Amino acid sequence: MSDLDEIECAVIGAGVVGLAAARAMAIAGKEVIIIEAEDAIGTATSSRNSEVIHAGIYYSKDSLKAKMCVAGNKMLYEYCPSHGVPHQACGKMIVATDESQHETLKDLKQKGEDNGVNDLTWLTGDEARQMEPALNTTAALLSPSSGLVDSHALMLAYQGDAEANGAVLALNAPVIGGEVTDRGIVLETGGSSPMRILCRQIINSGGLFAQKTAASIKGIPTEHIPECHYAKGSYFTLAGRAPFTHLIYPVPVEGGLGVHLTLDLAGQARFGPDVEWVDEIDYQVDPRRGDDFYDAVRTYWPELADGALAPGYSGIRPKLGGPGTPAADFVISGPDEHGIQGLVNLFGIESPGLTSSMAIADAVAEKLI
Ligand SMILES: Cc1cc2nc3c(=O)[nH]c(=O)nc-3n(C[C@H](O)[C@H](O)[C@H](O)COP(=O)(O)OP(=O)(O)OC[C@H]3O[C@@H](n4cnc5c(N)ncnc54)[C@H](O)[C@@H]3O)c2cc1C
Repeated sequence: MSDLDEIECAVIGAGVVGLAAARAMAIAGKEVIIIEAEDAIGTATSSRNSEVIHAGIYYSKDSLKAKMCVAGNKMLYEYCPSHGVPHQACGKMIVATDESQHETLKDLKQKGEDNGVNDLTWLTGDEARQMEPALNTTAALLSPSSGLVDSHALMLAYQGDAEANGAVLALNAPVIGGEVTDRGIVLETGGSSPMRILCRQIINSGGLFAQKTAASIKGIPTEHIPECHYAKGSYFTLAGRAPFTHLIYPVPVEGGLGVHLTLDLAGQARFGPDVEWVDEIDYQVDPRRGDDFYDAVRTYWPELADGALAPGYSGIRPKLGGPGTPAADFVISGPDEHGIQGLVNLFGIESPGLTSSMAIADAVAEKLI
């Protein structure tokens, strides 16, 4: 194996989570290479999401999603101002549009509080309309610590920190295989400059391809590679300005948080994402899906005008359970779980992965340092 380059730590995938993990490992003094299949960072799920800093309301008590989201939220609000990352604590309302939804809303408040989200406020319909006059609502939950972040600026900041601490980024370098050996894990990359590298540590943060990547490395037990299901979410953008200053969410639906209104940092509104189970990765937005958006949005914003929505973009959630199954937790699978020294696989890093990125990075580093 003497022909091999050697590295202390390889991070597969330059999405927001891979970059956060690379940053944490580089700051901890590790020699890090970030290996990315595409020709730029953050071209997959990390640039195809709602850019919402979630508070941690929706997730089961003691789940990784709950813990990582609550911790990650605080970490982001500290990190962004100190690193010039545009963000805004605009707050969010989860709105009930008839009284039959009040129980769900109360359950959400309790769930949030169980997770340590202590700033949730119950609003009557009138109180909610005083803050957002265009809303149709019978009651709402106000979450002041929900907000927005510029996901690309965040990734650039993570990359900058990682590189300032010695990490290097290899683009156009898809990992196409590898093997667990008694000296470490050998990775093989394709692309224009193929490499074979002996890695003492590997963080597999391949997002939608994390399972496929793990399966391509000989010696990783298949029982520790869960199935991946794809749930596409399409967005539609609003022509003109929305009359809202908060993010507006309906009560959640199976597989997602419901067709909500998010704003970008310039105040432009978009609605989405819906839930469509797919087998292939295809980011085109089918304009016909817009028909259902009008009905969904008009439940809480009746004045949405005909023809006001245009197809926007889409993202795909890497889900561990298929249609009809309960929401699965993040999987951070390290040596204690699968038995291979130096390896952490990240599976099912769907929402709230952007919010949780720094907390996930710390959890990964804890397994390896
Ligand atoms: C529709 C939607 C809305 C969302 N909204 C929010 C939100 O508002 N707030 C929030 O907190 N979270 C949200 N999320 C979740 C969040 O976007 C993700 O959890 C996060 O972006 C995942 O980052 P990642 O780095 O794990 O994956 P990715 O961004 O998918 O990055 C993985 C990277 O790995 C690379 N890669 C894969 N395989 C290989 C290989 N073999 N070799 C080399 N490179 C490889 C890919 O090219 C890619 O760049 C949303 C997700 C979706 C789909």
